[in-house]
Amino acid sequence: LFLNMDLEPPAHPFQDRQAKLRTRLEQRGLPLLMVTNPRNIFYLMGFRGSAGVAVLGSTEAVLWVDPRYTLQARSEARNVEVIEERGSITKAASTWLRKKRFKQVGFEDAQVTCGDYRALERETRGKIRFEPASGIVEEIRFVKDAGEIAQIRAACQVTAEAFAEVRPLIRPGTRESDLAGEIEYRMRRKGAEGPAFDTIVASGPRGALPHARASSKILAKTELVIFDLGAILNGYAADMTRTVYLGSRPGRRIRSLYKAVLEAQQRAVESIRDGVEGGAVDAAARRALSKHGLAPYFTHSTGHGVGLDIHEKPRLGRNDKTRLQAGCVVTAEPGVYIEGLGGIRLEDTVLVGPNGPEILTSAPMDGWTIS
Ligand code: ZN
Ligand code: ZN
Repeated sequence: LFLNMDLEPPAHPFQDRQAKLRTRLEQRGLPLLMVTNPRNIFYLMGFRGSAGVAVLGSTEAVLWVDPRYTLQARSEARNVEVIEERGSITKAASTWLRKKRFKQVGFEDAQVTCGDYRALERETRGKIRFEPASGIVEEIRFVKDAGEIAQIRAACQVTAEAFAEVRPLIRPGTRESDLAGEIEYRMRRKGAEGPAFDTIVASGPRGALPHARASSKILAKTELVIFDLGAILNGYAADMTRTVYLGSRPGRRIRSLYKAVLEAQQRAVESIRDGVEGGAVDAAARRALSKHGLAPYFTHSTGHGVGLDIHEKPRLGRNDKTRLQAGCVVTAEPGVYIEGLGGIRLEDTVLVGPNGPEILTSAPMDGWTIS
């Protein structure tokens, strides 16, 4: 089996990505795409500001920014003409489109507000048909190039190292939010820009809330504690969850729950490879939990893509038909949540490698009891 996966980072990533977008626009019969999602702008041209409007067509590549971002855009943006606009950047882009006499333009409908959409229609005086085209850039982002994989790998390493450093501090009497703070501080010390999302530390019964944030609750003996953390580094995210037990001898029920989730996580990771449907990875985890009668306690999808966004395509959920490709980066994160008792979730960020799955978040899952 030959899989085309480049090992060297591309010399001109933005040029390559813009070329891919142009091909897709041609396929959809769209002359231009107006890009307003900041992550997509960063992906296509390297500008990391929080506001900008870009237009990309067969020969056109323009980025409008307000004066806060002029210097940054001039130094970061590649393969694009940067225009500073003191008024509304949406209005400036619309006027440009109208003057160029375009009849049809794709736009990111999932991103544009109703107010901005009205401004677009008003400024172009009904002469341009705006076609909903969200997801085009995200489809290209689905498969990561070697440079992106290196960034995600580094973010995952920082995440695993930060957890390893904080692990000796986990003990009864500590506050959830103090541990979350320690984790985020150590991520930054290791070069992260910060956490990719609010670090979750959920102890005891709070663990039954899959997305509980760290609170002022104090950890107590014989509790399970879920840690869900991820660093962001050069724009790329990592995502990892570990669960520990505060005590040296967890009871039989907790031991069997942990073993079942661990097995489900391993089955999910093993099933991650080129050509496999997202639903098949989900089914692998769910099957393992069903064997132990735990399927009803697994209340979310098995995983999701990770990249510039912490949650992006593909979704590894029930019956998901999207096929993974070499170069995708996804999570495998089955869990069980039991009211009153708490929760157990184990999550890795996994690269779909040319020869199968590669775990990027390499913190151990055995040795989960803390005495
Ligand atoms: Zn997570
Ligand atoms: Zn996740």
